[in-house]
Amino acid sequence: MLLKGKSVFGGIAIGRLSVYGKKDHQVKRIKIHDTEAEVIRFTSAREKAKDQLTVLYDKALKEVGEVNAMIFEVHKMMLDDLDYIESITNMIRSQEVNAEFATATTGDNFAGMFSAMEDEYMRERAADVRDISNRVISVLQGASEGKEMGDEPVILLAEDLAPSETVQLDKSKVLSFVTRKGSTNSHTAILARTMNIPALIGVSLDNLEEMDGKWGIVDGYEGTLYVEPDRETLLRYEKLKEEDEQKKRLLQELKGKDNVTLDGKKIHLYANIGSVADVANVLANDAGGIGLFRSEFLFLESEDFPTEEVQFNAYKTVAENMAGKKVIIRTLDIGADKQVDYFGLEKEENPAMGYRAIRICLDRKEIFKTQLRAIYRASYYGTISIMFPMIISVREVKEIKEIIAEVKAELDQENLPYKDAEIGIMIETPAAVMISDLLAKEVDFFSIGTNDLTQYTLAIDRQNPKLDSIYDSHHEAVLRMLKMVVENGHKEDCWVGICGELGADTTLTEEFLRMGFDELSVTPSMILKVRDKIRSVNLSLK
Ligand code: PEP
Ligand code: MG
Repeated sequence: MLLKGKSVFGGIAIGRLSVYGKKDHQVKRIKIHDTEAEVIRFTSAREKAKDQLTVLYDKALKEVGEVNAMIFEVHKMMLDDLDYIESITNMIRSQEVNAEFATATTGDNFAGMFSAMEDEYMRERAADVRDISNRVISVLQGASEGKEMGDEPVILLAEDLAPSETVQLDKSKVLSFVTRKGSTNSHTAILARTMNIPALIGVSLDNLEEMDGKWGIVDGYEGTLYVEPDRETLLRYEKLKEEDEQKKRLLQELKGKDNVTLDGKKIHLYANIGSVADVANVLANDAGGIGLFRSEFLFLESEDFPTEEVQFNAYKTVAENMAGKKVIIRTLDIGADKQVDYFGLEKEENPAMGYRAIRICLDRKEIFKTQLRAIYRASYYGTISIMFPMIISVREVKEIKEIIAEVKAELDQENLPYKDAEIGIMIETPAAVMISDLLAKEVDFFSIGTNDLTQYTLAIDRQNPKLDSIYDSHHEAVLRMLKMVVENGHKEDCWVGICGELGADTTLTEEFLRMGFDELSVTPSMILKVRDKIRSVNLSLK
């Protein structure tokens, strides 16, 4: 049987399927006479639950790092929430019910409230309220912690896994986990990525109980789960797994090492992301920062313009999770292939050369200013740089700077804190390449978008599959442009990187180093491969 789902982390696992036994939190309503004694029972269970969370926090701190361990601090804080406590104690007193029932009902009510919120981040907190309530109930019921697991490592199948359940798992016994529910943005998914094990969500595990004990394969690259695979599939996956592990083993050794050539030249290696959820992958692969946050994905995921608050939370979360490492947020690059209905854009003959990216932002300033306000507000929580797409003139950059000045003045007036972010532009049009000497005087950095630069230089639509074979980013014209941009940038103390797909092309890594690039920003899973290449190069040999 083959089941499809959504991968939250790549890799291959082969082993027995084991259905994660949820503790039975079935709660009965019982009439209580001594309500004050019941309140005390609740209070001491709450204290015990907090002690458990302290232990979990320390465990997570060692295993998955401070940022991911924070969830247990948050859970502790939630257990101290006065509204939550009051709702439970009031219910015990006024309805004369047992603490288990009051906690379960309050947990449900609060979770329902969170689920109905507009903000996606808040919606996801519903799972956390249920988690803390179940913890208190477990203590009240005297249940023991965690699932008892056998000796054999297994592929865990579950309806859903709460962060606390995930971190409690004995990692040496879990090959992978597969859930029916869950979201890529949840802390559980973040933990899975950090744990470096293949994980799938959204798999239709309809007959969960029947799968228990059967043989299975998880393909975290394809997002598939095989239940009782045939011999041929099994052999194929055993081979793939071996190859995959070999590669990963070698690359893991490069974590924490410098991106330095044999003769000592260093370069920054950053990662490209499209959403907040990708940050875990960035950290898991030991990137030095985020070189391209494609912010338009926030807009593509929404039904309507994301508010300043929604954007602020997303940028802030990324900045905080990166804990001071550089995060380059690219402003909205909508249009062309990235169409959003609510923008009401007209159909164009030539959308790639049409009304898109910075052109829309400079035309519809209210959208642009909302985004810039959100970015600047988030800048306070980390190290954020801002980058603008599809630039063709110095005039555009000057206009952008005027708008930034307006945004800062507004924030000053409202007493909202922000930091002075580094400003950069994408070099992805031949025009920007040819005037890069002038543009370099205006900005702190350039990041070359080789995907579009190749398209516009060769006059080849990057979306057209018929032209795939001649869409050649290695074309001499493109390579000369890269060199020219580095030279012009450096003359004005403007650092230069690549964030297009070409940056991860290891056949060109040496050439990029020779050209003098300061940074390469690549998809997270390519970080260690590119690092590996950089460390094998010796620029002193010609
Ligand atoms: C590029 O054009 O190379 C780039 C990085 O931006 P995008 O692929 O999002 O257009
Ligand atoms: Mg582009």
